[in-house]
Amino acid sequence: MALVVMKFGGSSVADADKIKLVASKVVAKKNIGNKVIVVVSAPGNTTDDLLKMANKITSNPSAREMDMLLATGEMISISLLAMAIDSMNVKAISMTGSQAGILSDASYTCAKIKKVNPKKIKVWLSKNNIVIVAGFQALNSNGDITTLGRGGSDLTAVAIAAGLDADSCEIYSDVDGVHTTDPRLVKDARKLDYLSYDEMLEMAGSGAQVLQSRSIEVAKKFGVEIHARNTFSENQGTIITSEDKIRRNKMETLLISGIASDKNQVKFTLIDLPDIPGVAAKIFGRLAKIGINVDMIIQSAAINKKNDISFTVNKHEMKKTQIELDEIATELNVSEVLCDENIAKISIIGIGMKSNTGVAAKMFEILSKTGINIEMISTSEIKISCIIDEFDITKAVEELHKGFGLSKRSK
Ligand code: ASP
Ligand code: MG
Repeated sequence: MALVVMKFGGSSVADADKIKLVASKVVAKKNIGNKVIVVVSAPGNTTDDLLKMANKITSNPSAREMDMLLATGEMISISLLAMAIDSMNVKAISMTGSQAGILSDASYTCAKIKKVNPKKIKVWLSKNNIVIVAGFQALNSNGDITTLGRGGSDLTAVAIAAGLDADSCEIYSDVDGVHTTDPRLVKDARKLDYLSYDEMLEMAGSGAQVLQSRSIEVAKKFGVEIHARNTFSENQGTIITSEDKIRRNKMETLLISGIASDKNQVKFTLIDLPDIPGVAAKIFGRLAKIGINVDMIIQSAAINKKNDISFTVNKHEMKKTQIELDEIATELNVSEVLCDENIAKISIIGIGMKSNTGVAAKMFEILSKTGINIEMISTSEIKISCIIDEFDITKAVEELHKGFGLSKRSK
């Protein structure tokens, strides 16, 4: 008898009819001879609504109370789903994170799972029940409820699959799987059959919102294969697995698996910095100290013992960065600090890059033929990113998608 973990996102349990549909999918999975654990997110926009409500009360809510509040969203879904399954005359039991033995560290609102203690889940499975676990929540060693960061139900599902050594982990949402690029931007985007953990991580980090990044890291660490698929269709989705397995089974690998874009970036430039040791250390040391995550950095060649440094940060850290930079600029006698909000990052991602040369050159050529200027470049083993004008982003995605042969027609 196989053990299956099925996770359903908020849009899959957004109303009574959808909850009934999920119940029938879960029951069907059990009826073909599986043991089933279900993980669910809060219905629809519940988590956002709860956040808004808290912000109407106070601009500075305590993190402990925030977790207490947000954890209620998932409890709506587990109880309603248990009722729906029960009314089909199949045994089901709902469990909060704490009842299910999901144990975390003490960092409220973004807790890390330390351990899954599956004793109770196992007992109920052995009594022939479908076990329904609230995603996104855990219990810390003080006995308090914690939450696992936005999108954290994915992490709950992966951690349970790892902790109970499940035979499969299916993550259901309202899209068919992971696509070569955002289907809302490019109509021709096609669903990928397979993707490695590292590619998925790079895609998630570059703006593709399919699975929570931390859940992919944990899946990679424990070798949990994820099947990302659509609640509202029976089609195969995308299997996210190890690069090793993809190569061993000679599954289709493309030169580039995906193109991601991120408009949530701003670029800062410091003009006429003194060209002496310790300047970069000072700037980035200070930014790191206040928790600012710097993405790309370039430094120009020195002229007259002066140079410029540009770098990008996430848009929601713009103000904080600006204030710190103004201080640093005075200390270093910098002539100007510029901030450009109208930029975007475009990235091409694929394990095929490891064994092929000329991929970067091809990307630059496609952008240049489209008349797009590249402002910054960064590369990793399986990713090349460029900063361009925000205005050009859709065109850039389209042309790269076509140029690297990812469109449905070029398959
Ligand atoms: N309900 C939480 C959120 O919206 C967790 C999740 O959906 O995975 O972020
Ligand atoms: Mg959600």
